[in-house]
Amino acid sequence: MTSVTWADENAPTLLVKIFGRDRPGLTAGLFRTLASFRVDVIDIEQVVTRGRITLCALVRPPAGDAPQAAEGELRATVHAWAEGAGLQAEIISGTGDNPARGTGRSHVTVLGNPLTAETTAAVAARIAATGGNIDRIYRLAKYPVTAVEFDVSGVPTEELRTALAREAAASGVDIAVVSSGLQRRAPRLVVMDVDSTLIQDEVIELFAAHAGCEERVAEVTAAAMRGELDFEQSLHQRVALLAGLDESVVDKVRSEVRLTPGARTLIRTLKRLGCQVGVVSGGFTQVTDALRERLGLDFAAANTLEVVDGKLTGRVVGEVVDRPGKARLLRRFAAEAGVPLSRTVAIGDGANDLDMLNAAGLGVAFNAKPLVREAAHTAVSVPFLDTVLYLLGITREEVEAADAQG
Ligand SMILES: [Mg+2]
Repeated sequence: MTSVTWADENAPTLLVKIFGRDRPGLTAGLFRTLASFRVDVIDIEQVVTRGRITLCALVRPPAGDAPQAAEGELRATVHAWAEGAGLQAEIISGTGDNPARGTGRSHVTVLGNPLTAETTAAVAARIAATGGNIDRIYRLAKYPVTAVEFDVSGVPTEELRTALAREAAASGVDIAVVSSGLQRRAPRLVVMDVDSTLIQDEVIELFAAHAGCEERVAEVTAAAMRGELDFEQSLHQRVALLAGLDESVVDKVRSEVRLTPGARTLIRTLKRLGCQVGVVSGGFTQVTDALRERLGLDFAAANTLEVVDGKLTGRVVGEVVDRPGKARLLRRFAAEAGVPLSRTVAIGDGANDLDMLNAAGLGVAFNAKPLVREAAHTAVSVPFLDTVLYLLGITREEVEAADAQG
């Protein structure tokens, strides 16, 4: 018996590649052919694209008294088998295994709607310019956007993220860069903002419409966005405008709330993965508690509108949920769930989500303002909440298969 170890870079190896129309039995056929030469398998990679199979096998050459003759016979036999099966075959002699992947491993997820060849070229060129190598590429989803993942090695994740953030801004696509690791596909807690993230609306505006004070509320919101008021001041000023509103409006607002497309798919899939899901909102418990019930959420926290004698008083009661408050709640939920922060994901669109996004293991800016996009780990700018699953490396196929089983 030979005693060559897999790690021996000088040991001869054969790369056997077949390409052609896919059908059941091809992989069995190739390896049955190779089996007659008693070769060992070092690596196998197979992909099928539009019905065409590319199958690569890295094997040790046949041993024995006349190895060269045996290898010649193996080549002839594989080619004859491939020809009979209507396939192209190529056999390349060489040495060793695949080179070890470089350190600094990242997943680069590109979301395009559509994904153009131009963007793909630009992303690949930016990766190459950092010195990173693309080790693997595969499609995660074709719906509701085209999502493609590049596995990259040889460049620190932060450096790659900076380089690709420039490309995302230049080409108008979403590019998420996360470091590779077991934790990525199994977040244990996901916490979302509510207004303009889990739902399409701003709840204060729905209340304001019933109170007939949309314009004044919008003025306060604009002043806060210009930095003239902090979140807490703007909250108090806007809620004050609701004073005297009948409590029955709460039910109306609850029924007006529109979930963001993909919200149910995201939550359902995360729950199937054994992940806990919560919301934190600068809005109101009168709405978030109903959402918790409706969506089966594990956690919910928000401000509470004070109600006295069936009327809103224009005040909030209890601790105000503001920018630091949201980060504090993420930590509290994580502690209650027994989950380290590194295993949490936070999703939000506003400046008051930034502390929470940065405290989480992965912070996702969702259709956010440029300031928030730039400060978060990753950004999604398509209006589908379930695309967050692709950032976690979960494919559309897996989501649909889980739905079919459920
Ligand atoms: Mg928001």
